[in-house]
Amino acid sequence: MYAPQGVKLSPKMPVPDTMRAWVLGEPGELKLVEKPVPVPKRAEVLVRIDAVAICATDLEVIAHGPPAKVQGGLPFNKNWTPGHEYMGTVAALGPGVDEYAIGERVTVEIHAGCRQCKRCRQGMYTSCLNYGLNYGDVDKGHRANGFTTDGGFGEYAINNINTLVHVPDDMSDEEATLVVTAGTAMYGLTELGGLVAGESIVVTGPGPIGLLGVAVAKALGAEPVILTGTRDNRLQIGRELGADHVINVRRQDAVEAVQRIMNGRGVDYVLECAGAPNAIDEAARMVNRGGKICLAAFPHEPVPIDVAALVTNNIYLYGIRGEGKSATHRAAAFMAQKRFDATKIHTHTFGLDDLPTALRYARDRVDDAIKVVVKRRTEAVQQAAAE
Ligand SMILES: [Zn+2]
Ligand SMILES: [Zn+2]
Repeated sequence: MYAPQGVKLSPKMPVPDTMRAWVLGEPGELKLVEKPVPVPKRAEVLVRIDAVAICATDLEVIAHGPPAKVQGGLPFNKNWTPGHEYMGTVAALGPGVDEYAIGERVTVEIHAGCRQCKRCRQGMYTSCLNYGLNYGDVDKGHRANGFTTDGGFGEYAINNINTLVHVPDDMSDEEATLVVTAGTAMYGLTELGGLVAGESIVVTGPGPIGLLGVAVAKALGAEPVILTGTRDNRLQIGRELGADHVINVRRQDAVEAVQRIMNGRGVDYVLECAGAPNAIDEAARMVNRGGKICLAAFPHEPVPIDVAALVTNNIYLYGIRGEGKSATHRAAAFMAQKRFDATKIHTHTFGLDDLPTALRYARDRVDDAIKVVVKRRTEAVQQAAAE
């Protein structure tokens, strides 16, 4: 039985020695294997994973590798488990941990950083200068679960205490997995200055981050919040999450439509979540002089940009990675206070054994899938519902 030295356990949550986990083989190849349950060190806990959401970045990592970096290189054939948007129950505590209790429900953020480099010391742990250095001679203690350390497509994972957020009893497992997505939107708005009450914003692209970007911007008091996209069903969800105006760019020119709404004055901020090649140029024509653009998505190829438009109008560009500066805590607070209903973007649930199907639904947007969630035990869920 699992009983590592110095690790606190509880009889109410026995932990097995081994667990089922998906590991990445060749590009695109996932295998369900049995592997040892990992052991938490100082400032770490063992989390039993109850639910994990699929993100576009998971699809990217599984097919191509980056931004995952395992033992200094590509993540293939390293017995490595992807998945990063998970929640679960604390199952064991590393030495000295009293910040969380065994049995407590938690959700996670991805990056712990090394906690010793310049960026980590500035609170920018998602931009840790020691990214991926957590092995052998270059063990700086960096963790980005599902990118540089084992992630959530398995039964258990290790988390640094700084990457956990308490989940209230009345929040479902599925909703709790969306905290990290809302956290990314919150981080984007934090980098734009955070003081968006009464300021105007365009969110481009109604993917999960864009839709929760609308919700978080509205919760922070932005006015008006304008959402652009190509799918009417997603734009409708954007309306339900707080968008004052939606623009279908298949039917209208996005820049013209924004300028019409703003009487030609432009908006203060653009949160760019579409990743289209012309996204920066369009955003630069949507914002007013001195406006700010946050880039939360990117095209796969390098693209030319009208730099003169940025310079002559004093426009600021912010690239963001992940959910830094404890943004998940602020996003989770909004969700606990029911300031918006993130579950509107959750469309499908599968069991852990059905991960390949779940990934296909997310990738091919089968049945209009937006956020697909994988649960440890779907039987247990059905039972709970029947009781
Ligand atoms: Zn993600
Ligand atoms: Zn660091």
